[in-house]
Amino acid sequence: MGGGEAVDERVHASAFRNEAAPWTAFVARGPPPAVQAALAWAAMSTSADFGFEILARDGAARRGLLRTAHGTVETPAFVAVATQGSVKSVAPTSVREAGTQILFANTYHLYLRPGAETVARHGGLHRFMNWDGPILTDSGGFQVFSLGAGLEHGVGKVASIFPGEGAGPGAARAGQGMVRVEEERVVFTSHVDGRRHVFTPEISVQVQRALGADVALAFDECTSPLHDERYTAQSAARTHRWAERSLRAFRESEPRHGYGQALYGVVQGGAYERVRAASAGVIGAMGFDGFAVGGNLGDTRETMYRVLDWTVPELPDGPPRHLLGIGDVASVFEAVARGLDTFDSVAPTRNARNGGVLARVDDDGTPLPTFRLNLKNARFADDLRPIEQGCDCDTCRHHSRAYLRHLLKANEQLGQQLATIHNLRFMARLMEEIRDAIAAGRLDAVRDAWLEPAREAAARTVTAGAGRPS
Ligand SMILES: [Zn+2]
Repeated sequence: MGGGEAVDERVHASAFRNEAAPWTAFVARGPPPAVQAALAWAAMSTSADFGFEILARDGAARRGLLRTAHGTVETPAFVAVATQGSVKSVAPTSVREAGTQILFANTYHLYLRPGAETVARHGGLHRFMNWDGPILTDSGGFQVFSLGAGLEHGVGKVASIFPGEGAGPGAARAGQGMVRVEEERVVFTSHVDGRRHVFTPEISVQVQRALGADVALAFDECTSPLHDERYTAQSAARTHRWAERSLRAFRESEPRHGYGQALYGVVQGGAYERVRAASAGVIGAMGFDGFAVGGNLGDTRETMYRVLDWTVPELPDGPPRHLLGIGDVASVFEAVARGLDTFDSVAPTRNARNGGVLARVDDDGTPLPTFRLNLKNARFADDLRPIEQGCDCDTCRHHSRAYLRHLLKANEQLGQQLATIHNLRFMARLMEEIRDAIAAGRLDAVRDAWLEPAREAAARTVTAGAGRPS
């Protein structure tokens, strides 16, 4: 047994690592022997507490039920980000009341502070933060690399997932040398206290076991938009080897908190078609409970849609698919239409704290190009209406734009809280509408009804800007 595994490892390694073997070999050859061996594990279920059922289809879109030990999520669903075990500024009870079904917590941050074992001693993250719904955790890879390599490249990945669409390089902070990638491990420096840490696929699994995530992610290297195709391919191959190690560590370990957990594999490959498709094929064949599409998704939305077009057909049809770091209205519609089931993004909650609240139309009924109002705008100073007419959220039922604007201008935390509650509710209502549209076979029509007027409004804005006398 052990000898055979060693041989497989060698063949696998030479296909991916040997300088003599061109990197394109990994694209051409399909799953190497070690991955074939991994297929033998696929028959084993990693968790009896986890399942995914597809209830309806509309083209490639699916309406489904994601079953976890902490309840069932109706999909497509937006996953609210709770990086530090907190949806910033809002208590878990309010997060739930806004219709949020599932949270996304951050392995890297919780590992550094307060420490995974501290969370484990409190019974896991659900009890620690008093959230009884499902929790998904990332592997820590994104932060390790976005706080390291992303900074070295001056690419503000956290500031903007689409650097080609504004925001731009936002990370001029000192970050050089914060991360070093080796075959066996990643060495990085904590952004909290400057201490040196080591992450491996096995450690990432242990930490996510300790946190008690319902859905854990396999440890991956997250490449930057500035990595070329060659490096991205080499990195994806390493991510595949780490995926095998993650799966093995997951299957050889037990849940820490008495309920089953699931493990998703992460597809990498940047915005390079051959690498993406190959990564999806390799990861998709490994027998994970579900899949996440991560890493650099290109510098525009259109590129991201193409990345999904290359990725989804290579993944098995049955398991759930998560899109990492995407949560704007247009992208959600387009990703759902391509067969993605869940999405996480800091945008709705982060924007809310800055006064950017989600709405479909402006006061006069004209569509908003980015589905957003800036509550700090002077025109809301005496506006006694709610953020959005007809919204059933706690904020819109009790508070005016004028009051919210005042709170936000005065830096009162309540303003951030109330704005966040509205944006969470907006996302929950949007996803509900999308689920209903899939069930009715009307996703294209509903998508067009949302996106066409916004596109036209955006075009008008551009034309008006271009026609302005100089
Ligand atoms: Zn509202």
